[in-house]
Amino acid sequence: MIDFEQLRIANVVRQMEWPGNEEADLAFRALEVADEAGEVMGAIKKLERARRGIAGSTLDLQDVAEELGDTMIALDLLANEIKCGPDEFAPSVELQASQSVQPVMEQALILDNMVGDLSFAAFLLLAAMSAEGDELKPREHVIQCMSRVLASLSGISETLGIDLGQAVAAKFNKTSERYGMATRFETARRPPSGALRND
Ligand SMILES: [Mg+2]
Repeated sequence: MIDFEQLRIANVVRQMEWPGNEEADLAFRALEVADEAGEVMGAIKKLERARRGIAGSTLDLQDVAEELGDTMIALDLLANEIKCGPDEFAPSVELQASQSVQPVMEQALILDNMVGDLSFAAFLLLAAMSAEGDELKPREHVIQCMSRVLASLSGISETLGIDLGQAVAAKFNKTSERYGMATRFETARRPPSGALRND
């Protein structure tokens, strides 16, 4: 399973060294989740192409794992943006994931719907923020939608036999290497707790 606490620490620490991070706001983070979830769906489609022998470009299980990792990382960055701790959107994941017994293609379609709901919830929160209205309910709605996306990602991982926690750590470190960032996802050692503060 995912070490949510470590993911948040790694994300916050890496964003400190990510050039232009201060320009990433709620709209950007929400779009990032939608984009990465779309890549999960694309990877599942191409995996299925390979499995069924349908002509066209194909991808393997490793590619799906990487996109699941990307989406999870983006989801946590969105949660961080609205000051939502992992404990607020992660608790009922395993219960929901265990209900996911549909074929992976069907789960991917459900993921599409869950992410659509999340995008719209983020839009409503943005509208409430710009209108200086009551942000409380829109924020709760975003968190509910994030929980459902997370459950969807867990279900897909389970069905495909992917260890989502491992996929997150591996893709986090691959991205750090690619962009020359020093932060690594480490499950054993942790930076001082002061590093967690982002406000
Ligand atoms: Mg990606």
